[in-house]
Amino acid sequence: MQAQPGSSAASPAGAGRRRRAKAVFFDRDGTLNVDIHYLHRPEDFQWIPGAQEAIKYVNDRGYLAILVTNQSGVARGYYPESDVVRVYDWMNAELQRSGAHLDALYYCPHHPDGSVPRYTKTCVCRKPSPGLVDRACEEFAIDKASSYFVGDTESDMACARNAGIRGVRYEGGSLLALVRAAVK
Ligand SMILES: [Mg+2]
Ligand SMILES: [Zn+2]
Repeated sequence: MQAQPGSSAASPAGAGRRRRAKAVFFDRDGTLNVDIHYLHRPEDFQWIPGAQEAIKYVNDRGYLAILVTNQSGVARGYYPESDVVRVYDWMNAELQRSGAHLDALYYCPHHPDGSVPRYTKTCVCRKPSPGLVDRACEEFAIDKASSYFVGDTESDMACARNAGIRGVRYEGGSLLALVRAAVK
């Protein structure tokens, strides 16, 4: 049963509080896969060394593994939103073979200089805005203080700061080694 907003009848403060989830947020291009710019076909997807193992590592430690990605190619008319989902589904099918998985996908299809009118705007979800991370934290009841954001760009680190989550910068090499060192 869920407590009603504003209700104080259920229990003393804290007593009935549900344990909050913790998460590792992953950028996609340049972090989990080699960035070829506007990737939208599974055939072109090439895993970064240690990426699948890094996801498995956070799975095994009880973190949600959440993909957070800017996909301005949608606003630019290069590919439809369904391609973003298709690549995500393909990634999960690949991960399944090693017993790993991503728990959720959050993406921004917008860009201020797009060519598809409905996606062409300045939004609150395009990184470094914290919109996508904030939405995920709300929807999964994630405790930001015990969560991480792993990405390869300064924009990802800015997004982490804006969201109030620890940023972990990937700069090459094994993603697993980086994640093992950062995420306990
Ligand atoms: Mg990236
Ligand atoms: Zn957006």
